[in-house]
Amino acid sequence: MSAVNDASDAPAASTPALTLGVMGGGQLGRMFVHAAQTLGFRTAVLDPDALSPAGLVSHLHLQAAYLDAAALSELASTCLAVTTEFENVPADALDSLAQRVNVAPGAAAVRICQDRAREKAFFKSMAVPCAPYAVIASADDVQRAEATLFPAILKTSQLGYDGKGQLAVPELAALPAAWAALSQAPCLLEKKLALAHEISVVVARGRDGAMVQLPVQQNLHRAGILALTQVPAPDVSAAIANEAVACARRLAEGLGYVGVLCVEFFVLEGGQLVANEMAPRPHNSGHYSIDACDVSQFDLQVRAMAGLPLVAPRLHSPALMLNLLGDLRPLDAAGQRVAPHWAPLLALPGVHLHLYGKAEARPGRKMGHLTVTAASFGQAREVAQTAAALLGFEPF
Ligand code: ADP
Ligand code: MG
Repeated sequence: MSAVNDASDAPAASTPALTLGVMGGGQLGRMFVHAAQTLGFRTAVLDPDALSPAGLVSHLHLQAAYLDAAALSELASTCLAVTTEFENVPADALDSLAQRVNVAPGAAAVRICQDRAREKAFFKSMAVPCAPYAVIASADDVQRAEATLFPAILKTSQLGYDGKGQLAVPELAALPAAWAALSQAPCLLEKKLALAHEISVVVARGRDGAMVQLPVQQNLHRAGILALTQVPAPDVSAAIANEAVACARRLAEGLGYVGVLCVEFFVLEGGQLVANEMAPRPHNSGHYSIDACDVSQFDLQVRAMAGLPLVAPRLHSPALMLNLLGDLRPLDAAGQRVAPHWAPLLALPGVHLHLYGKAEARPGRKMGHLTVTAASFGQAREVAQTAAALLGFEPF
């Protein structure tokens, strides 16, 4: 194990009370590290990748596997508290850490979020509406699937993200082949609903049970990946927004959650609200809060895990967030993806560019995001469309 970024001039390097740790070194970890450092904390990142976006900016980078006993031990002895920045962190690693250090969120909550079947059962137990579904874990389950669930989407129960591990299943007869195509992994068969809009709520809960949330976001997905977030949600009534916030808070409470939790919802064409899924961490749809709120989702994560007061974030500017995927990078003569010309974008008023420091651009890979703020939503939208045109981002 090597601590590639251990700052040598920091006398407080081993002072537990001053270091916050994070499992995972992706862009969410990087933005968490930035927020922690703003409050004067030192940071420790555990990620096997020598060039992980968060590891590159952290005081300490433990470059090791997530279940590496020595690395977990060092993280526990170095940190005041440890959090996670990705959903699929081994829950056993969180359990092991929790024996020695504060861990937020806890392994029990993360285990529920990691498994769509557990997650949906939890929604039901909390009287939060969700899409009709069936668990598909055996050939018998395939036999028993009801025709009323179709057209449907078959989703692997675990390890799916950004639309990966999902197949559209138009009719019952297509189910056996679809399940085979997903390697007969444990799955959830979900009725495909007619969506009017997608929204999400980011809520933060402290150890004392205090809760605050960001304003409701409206999200546009393209090919299963978040493309655009708009705040305030332009097409969502106050009643629906309030209902979504109430559901998110109820879920956080029911989980005994500590930290930042995001709940994704569908607003159906008929106007009903149904919960889709939860993420036990800050969320891509909450990135706008860095530039458009006085307290960001990452500030809330730092405060919640460190036992500091949570204050309700105030949206000071309407905002649109565009995800910058690797696809947007033009190919050069040698077929390599190169960075777009950032200067014309940065010349636009209210554009806040965030790049994650990833060396290699690939289609679908999140390379950065761009938040546009302005005095009015209309102005922000106009600038966002101009930015989109400059980037080759499909208009919205
Ligand atoms: P992921 O973990 O990949 O984000 P989701 O379950 O959120 O998986 O699905 C990704 C996207 O697919 C959703 O944001 C939504 O656009 C669409 N989708 C998922 N489930 C349904 C459904 N039951 N009905 C209609 N669209 C769906
Ligand atoms: Mg999702």
